Order: sequence, then structure tokens, then C-alpha cells
Amino acid sequence: MTYQYWNQEMETLNRADLEAFQLKQLRSAVAHALRTPFYRERLSKAGIQSEEDIKSLADLARIPFTTKGDLRLGFPYGFLSIPKDEVIRLHASSGTTGTPTTIYFNRPDIRRWTGFVARSIYATGCTKADVFQNMITYGLFTGGLGFHFGGEEVGMLVIPSGSGNTNRQFKLMQDFGTTVVHATPSFLLHVEAKMQEEGVRRERIKLTRAFAGAEPYSEDTRKRIEELLRIDVYNSYGLSEMNGPGVAFECQAKNGLHLWEDGYIGEIVNPDTLEPVPEGETGELVLTCLCREATPILRYRTRDLSGFYTEPCPCGRTHRRLRRITGRTDDMLIINGVNLFPSQIEEVIMSMQEVGNNYLIVVEKEGVLDRLTVKTEVAQDSFRDDTRPLHALKERIRKTLQASIFINPRIELHERGSLPVSEGKATRVLDQRPRG
Ligand code: ADP
Ligand code: ZN
Repeated sequence: MTYQYWNQEMETLNRADLEAFQLKQLRSAVAHALRTPFYRERLSKAGIQSEEDIKSLADLARIPFTTKGDLRLGFPYGFLSIPKDEVIRLHASSGTTGTPTTIYFNRPDIRRWTGFVARSIYATGCTKADVFQNMITYGLFTGGLGFHFGGEEVGMLVIPSGSGNTNRQFKLMQDFGTTVVHATPSFLLHVEAKMQEEGVRRERIKLTRAFAGAEPYSEDTRKRIEELLRIDVYNSYGLSEMNGPGVAFECQAKNGLHLWEDGYIGEIVNPDTLEPVPEGETGELVLTCLCREATPILRYRTRDLSGFYTEPCPCGRTHRRLRRITGRTDDMLIINGVNLFPSQIEEVIMSMQEVGNNYLIVVEKEGVLDRLTVKTEVAQDSFRDDTRPLHALKERIRKTLQASIFINPRIELHERGSLPVSEGKATRVLDQRPRG
């Protein structure tokens, strides 16, 4: 395979030069951070009075971690490092786990962010000849405008379709010959189910690629989307605290996400001790933003679980690759004392052909015990008169799940297309246990 680079020099830079570049950018990020009320106090307590105190990348470890809680405390301007009239845009996180946080950009910040998104898109093999339908929420959420401007930068025809309304999406795809889409993996699965339902013929659609991200999904889900839609799916990772999309992205080798290390420093730490984990092991991803002046954020605890691959990528890029993010540290459910990540359930059910594209995990209290119910859809238009095959399927899902999660779940089978679909990030877990 031949690989194409948006910025070959930077993407294939040798590690020593890449690290020298990171150090220069880190010092500039610290200089900006020292202009914010929040970091002025935090960093001076840690003995960092100026960027001169950062002498090597090892000094990163002297900088205290920043949490989502800190960002909330600093709302609205505690993290702003430039005069307000220099700010040209703001974005906010989707607030999946509480109050949203706000990030400000000046013009060079937007330019750099757009560059990282363009680089990511280009790494998947797209060119200016592609037609790109951005099927994700526009607005405060960074996935809309972030991909929009990145796509324009590559020179593609960008269709700002936004999410939802599958019939309109199909029409746009057919009218303008869409070749690439961006969506959440759950929406892509929904689109496929709808295509079948509406009888949209695959031959009428030119789609070859999709960027899927904004929520965790398993390798089996990727394969399922690829097989059903007959396209290549590339994993896209980002978060608003680090601008949004374009933080880490899969190249055409489709084996881990290159973290753009000239824009971000990544560390993997043990979420309990906050010590670095041995190279290659899984832990919490901590990111430092090297490419934004208006809202510097240093050593941000993403709560996302990942780890670095240690072997080099066949594409020749030197930027290290992150493993697929399996979930967040705060996603973990404890069910009758057993730890469970929703991704463990997804892995099992998406590997079973007979199970449909959507599922929901419900946890309730039954007396003193926790009760786990997994609601899934069946793949085929089922509910025929003979319910025996359904019973057998249910039993098989239950047994397969139990063997892998060590909890005996209750299984509910639903008709295809009957479980609720979200237009943005999917809600996969309903924890209905009383709090406290
Ligand atoms: P919120 O924290 O409110 O969801 P964002 O909209 O900024 O805010 O979403 C960023 C988060 O989305 C990431 O921290 C991560 O948990 C999740 N995410 C984004 N892309 C992916 C991906 N490719 N795989 C897994 N999780 C992802
Ligand atoms: Zn690669």
C-alpha cells in the first residue's frame, strides 16, 4: 500500500526532533498557562514561575494534573490566557458526565486545529476529489465544525448535513455522490438498518469510507459496519478539552490511532496512583495541549482508557499509536461486586451475527441484589409464529455473556429498529439503582 501524508516532514519526523519540537511547544504552552488565573496559582505552588523552569520533557512530571472538575471550577474565564477580544470562537463538551466545559480559540488556534483534522482525514486516503457528508451534530459540539473545516482544508466537497433524518441523508448521498461520511458508530449502524428498511440500493450510493468516533466501540462493531455497508471505517478520537476531533486518528493501516504528537503530549497513568504505567500497558490517557494559546490545558486527565502500541506503524509515521479506547474510568459498573465495562458486553453481542445493531444495558435493584438486563435487537425480521428459535438465541446470548462477564444477565430480545436511537452519542447504560 502507498501511504499519503498531509505534512510528510512532521508526520515522519524522527523521535529526537519530534521531542525537541514538543519541548519548545510545551514551554510556550506553560508561558500561556501562567497568564491564566487557574494555572498561575497551580504552577507557582509546584515551583514553576516561568517557562524557563521547563528544561526538558521530563519536567512535564512536575506539572500538576488538571481534571474536568478543575475546568468546571474555572468556568467561565479561569482558563483564558488572552484578552477576550482576541477570541474568535468557543466550543463546549457534550456534557456526557455533567456540566459542560468551555474552550476558547483565537485565529491561530483554529488554524492549527483545522490542520490536525485535515491531516487526519488525509491519512485515511481521502483527497480533494471526495464528497464528504458530515452526519454529526453541528453547534457547540466540536465534531461538527471541527470536521467541517478540516474537510474543506483537504479540499473535499463538504455537505454539512448534521446528524439524524436518515431519509434526508440517503437523498443527499445519492444526489451528490457522497464518498465519505463522519458519524458516531451507533448512527452508522442505524443508517445501515434504515437502508435495508427503506430499500435503498447500495449500488446507488458511492460510499467508500467512514470516520467513526465520539463514543467507544469495539473492533467487532467496526467489522460489522464495514461488512454491512461495504466501506472502510477509521477510528477518530478527540475531546473538546483538546480542541475536538483530530487528536488521534487511524491511518490506512487501521491498527491503532496515531496521536499527533506535535500537537499533544500523551501519557498513560495508573488512575489510582497517577504513576506512569509500563510502556504498552493500559491506563488513563493524560493529554497536554501543545497547539492552543487561548485556553491552555496541561496534563488533562481524560478518564479514557487506552495504551500505546510499542511497535512502529507500517505507514512510516513516527507519531505513536493509541489502542482503541475501551471506555472511561467512570464508565465502570459494579454489579453485585463484580466490575463491568459496557464495552465487554458490546464485544460479545456485536460478535454474534444474529444480534441486531442496537442494544441497551439496564441495571436495577431487586431486593438487595443488582440485576443486569441486556436488551438487544434481533438481526432478522424475527417474531414469527414459532418462538423456539428466539428462545434458543436468547439462551445462547445469555450463556456467552455470562462466560465472559461473570455475571448472569437477563436478556430481552426486541424487534429490529425498536430500541431508542440517539442522534449524538448513544446512551447505552441505564443505571436505575437508587444512589447513595
Ligand atoms: P464529553 O466528555 O461531554 O462527552 P466530548 O464531546 O468532548 O465531551 O467527548 C469526548 C469524549 O468522547 C472522549 O473523552 C471519549 O470519552 C469519547 N470519545 C471520543 N472519540 C472516541 C473514540 N474514537 N473512541 C472512544 N471514545 C471516544
Ligand atoms: Zn500508521
